[in-house]
Amino acid sequence: MLELVETNPKVGVQESEYQRLLGFPKNYVMRGRMRELVDAARRWYAENGRPWFYARQINTLDLTAGKLRVGETEFSSQQLHHQFAEAQADSVVLVAVSAGRECEEYAQQLWRESKPDEYFFMEMFGSGVVEHLVTVASGRICGWADQHGAAALPHYSPGYSGWDISDQIKLWNLLRQYGAPCFDGKLDVLETGMLRPKKSLLAVMGITRHLEKARSLTRLIPCEACALSDCQYRRAPYRHAPPQIEDVRTLMSHALENLHSGNPLPVLNPGAKYTINPRALGKWSQERLRLEFSPDGGVAVGFRYEGTTCSNMGRALEYDYHVRLAPPEDQYRILEMHCAPAPGDTGHPFQCECLNAAAALRHNLAGEKPLLGQPLNAVFNWHREYNPSGCFCDRARREHKWGLVLEVIHFALAQRETAPAHGQAEMILE
Ligand code: SF4
Repeated sequence: MLELVETNPKVGVQESEYQRLLGFPKNYVMRGRMRELVDAARRWYAENGRPWFYARQINTLDLTAGKLRVGETEFSSQQLHHQFAEAQADSVVLVAVSAGRECEEYAQQLWRESKPDEYFFMEMFGSGVVEHLVTVASGRICGWADQHGAAALPHYSPGYSGWDISDQIKLWNLLRQYGAPCFDGKLDVLETGMLRPKKSLLAVMGITRHLEKARSLTRLIPCEACALSDCQYRRAPYRHAPPQIEDVRTLMSHALENLHSGNPLPVLNPGAKYTINPRALGKWSQERLRLEFSPDGGVAVGFRYEGTTCSNMGRALEYDYHVRLAPPEDQYRILEMHCAPAPGDTGHPFQCECLNAAAALRHNLAGEKPLLGQPLNAVFNWHREYNPSGCFCDRARREHKWGLVLEVIHFALAQRETAPAHGQAEMILE
């Protein structure tokens, strides 16, 4: 008699499986914001998740008169009945797995905090944990069956094709007859058949001693839908994921839907704490900023600074800033930075430092490239002196202006990213 009680199984959701559940193509490379979301969900679960699983063999399997009975309970699935009859199954293992309540509660908290992307990635990680637990439980059951001269059949659950979800309650009641102490407060089944926490699964696996049947008919081999790596009992290569009861798209945030429809996911926070007044940012981004987008999403930026010298009768001066940014999936990393007097500017020679040491000032202007190589968002972690005077005579004044330019660029791109596209609802992203 097999009984497995795992209250703290090791969880190792494979990256490829998680990526599939998120709905990304196989060859999609997770980076930037996606990478952060994936890593954050994985990290949170490793620190806070409480997965568990339970499995119990029941010997009283009755397939007579076209009915499927386990113990005293009759199930409605003709499909499962046919599978058991075909494989000449003589017992079943009932399985319950769960990613735990904490995972669902945290996902709901993220939703309440208006973090739809974090919510979605957490939800899908929970689904990945459930699939992983099923494969781990399968590994133990297949190993046990092999040692007893038997083979396990593919797991099947209420809600899968050919098995009405309403049988979930019957299956749950049957499980509780045997493993009640293990489920204390951990799982509930609603009248609709829905599980609470929803990142859980109830399943049945047939056990047969007729190994030739289990080996000869592909549909009786569970391995094709089992992602367990390095399984010593594997009878067929892994080909496809198990069926999903959950509709992933209903969980998708607006931002991810946009990503899947080909629009880039925002990487800049429009609610960032700018040091410059938003009205000034808006005005400068309209009047002084020029953005050119390359086909790969990179951005060439031009910004015209206008100020006056602090002394020498306050002469008007103009400087041009040129910045090149990587595409959004590379976090708008700053690839190039240049600053020099605008062509035809006549004011800059009257700055004190230009009159004292013009070559040194030119050299400093050309060499100072703060935040080069860093993501554009880094401007908010850059501690620089507040020094709004008009000239470029010392480093603090020059850095203040670079900060201003980078904030204007950030403001303009963040507005552009979050602007409603083609009449769609505004994307929500913290
Ligand atoms: S790979 Fe096959 S034998 Fe191994 S655990 Fe999965 S279903 Fe069982």
